[in-house]
Amino acid sequence: MELAKGNLKQAVLWEPAEDKKVRCKLCNWRCLIADGKLGQCCVRKNIDGTLYSLNYNKVCSANPDPIEKKPLFHFQPGSQSFSIACVGCNFRCEFCQNWQISQAAVEEGRIDGQPISPETIVESAVRYDCKSIAYTYTEPTIFMELCNDSGLLAKQRGLTNVFVSNGYMTREAIDFASDWLNGINVDLKSFNDDYYKRLCKTRLQPVLDTISYIAKETDIWLEVTTLIVPDENDSEDELKKLADFIVTKAGPDVPWHISRFHPQYKYLDSVPTPISTLERAYQIGKSAGLHYVYLGNVPGAKSESTFCYKCGRILIERVGYRIAANHIENSHCPDCRTKIAGFEL
Ligand code: SF4
Repeated sequence: MELAKGNLKQAVLWEPAEDKKVRCKLCNWRCLIADGKLGQCCVRKNIDGTLYSLNYNKVCSANPDPIEKKPLFHFQPGSQSFSIACVGCNFRCEFCQNWQISQAAVEEGRIDGQPISPETIVESAVRYDCKSIAYTYTEPTIFMELCNDSGLLAKQRGLTNVFVSNGYMTREAIDFASDWLNGINVDLKSFNDDYYKRLCKTRLQPVLDTISYIAKETDIWLEVTTLIVPDENDSEDELKKLADFIVTKAGPDVPWHISRFHPQYKYLDSVPTPISTLERAYQIGKSAGLHYVYLGNVPGAKSESTFCYKCGRILIERVGYRIAANHIENSHCPDCRTKIAGFEL
């Protein structure tokens, strides 16, 4: 990769097309972009027949977080993850909780942030005693160039790398990152294409394809999150379809995080998800055969903790994002010796 056009970074994963257009292959929009125009994410621009990233030097968040906050519950539990984001997104979710940074490029054409080099990101992670770097808060796919440069350096320093993603990346993008990407939490927002079209302005199938592909074809540790929005994706039928999909296409060991919705951004005429709905979803997930189901945004809930799916023993006791105790012994339940899936448990 090379720097050019001032401080812009030449993009990865694109190809030239007719009339100085370019085809971006990073996410499933697969934008065909005319000379001088932007892609759907508004942070990739065709300049004279070459695609550039506009947000490579625009880091808008950089701080250590518990890995549990991503959420990743079976990945280096109890560790800190140095978490970075650049402005922009390829989704338009009406209830986005980070809309100030994800939608600024779309709504106002602003790409705010500061240049932080991959070397500085990795040094900061080491200084804060982090085990990993998380590309999070906005969609990491659309700042893949920085993820790649930082990810490769982090790997050299013995750190891991994780994504928190909407799952809209292409297979080419997953393959591109697979050398240094160790873990990912993918949002599966609904099992209804109409939901994705209406509330996120995208489609369901590419997200399903991403989850299946990562689970079956890569070594990347996978967890899945579903935000339960009242009257939108909380029917018995839809929750069963979500849980069945994860069990059959990703496997029973993939943790499912069921997260509580709070009114946000443009989606304000709703109530927070009732706890009873979340508990119903939890039961549906367990009945479908998932080994690990968690409730998110419900501080103090028993189902924040990890239990052995065979004997029921508590394995990781969580209080919010804090680990109160980890009883797992060498990736096994200390009582019945069942193997507990995860990355460096
Ligand atoms: S990352 Fe996605 S939305 Fe952005 S230009 Fe590429 S294909 Fe389009």
